[in-house]
Amino acid sequence: MERRNGILVVFSGFAGSGKGTIMKELMKRYPERYALSVSATTRSPRPGEEEGVDYFFKTEGEFLDLVSSGQMLEYANYVGNYYGTPKGYVERKLQEGYDVILEIETQGALKVKEMLPDTLLMYVTPPDADTIYNRLKGRATEDENTIARRMAKAYEEADIMPKYDYWVVNDDLDSCVEKVNTIIENEHHRMFRNKEKLWVMKQQLCCYAK
Ligand code: 5GP
Repeated sequence: MERRNGILVVFSGFAGSGKGTIMKELMKRYPERYALSVSATTRSPRPGEEEGVDYFFKTEGEFLDLVSSGQMLEYANYVGNYYGTPKGYVERKLQEGYDVILEIETQGALKVKEMLPDTLLMYVTPPDADTIYNRLKGRATEDENTIARRMAKAYEEADIMPKYDYWVVNDDLDSCVEKVNTIIENEHHRMFRNKEKLWVMKQQLCCYAK
């Protein structure tokens, strides 16, 4: 199979949008195509979360050391905790031809887009605000105060959504995963992502052109 350049994809969404589940399902269905970056955070682990699988859990000091030694592609403070993307894994997997997915919030997403303008930005939301609230409540891992802060954050983030390339509504997990996969697949066919391939074709055509 033809080896192609990996695309850096940022996947953001409101708390309760189901983005984590969508990403896990995408990885399960297409492991040969995608690599999901595991972030570092200063937030405490939620029940069931595993070190190195869900996050690399760090103290604030450890986190800031990673930032100052240039090991983070981006980082942001979100609702009182630091979150950041370790750079090495992303660079390695892109070179290997994987589409690398960062599941990150909007400040970090916009920083990545500024540094690397070819990044594809996707935003996922539940169908409506009631569903967001009910999903957060149903999680039962966060108190009312945290839920209220996350709802307020969603209200703010709605103003940032127009800066994204795609909006995907998660009303059904299966079709949402397929939509995300199709969007990324189509993105590979954009002309600006195929400049090197076009150059090779032009060299080949040159031999025939009279
Ligand atoms: P949670 O605490 O619910 O796991 O994540 C809170 C928010 O932080 C989510 O919007 C999540 O996408 C975002 N996030 C997770 N990892 C990173 C990261 O490495 N960088 C940035 N900027 N945001 C992140």
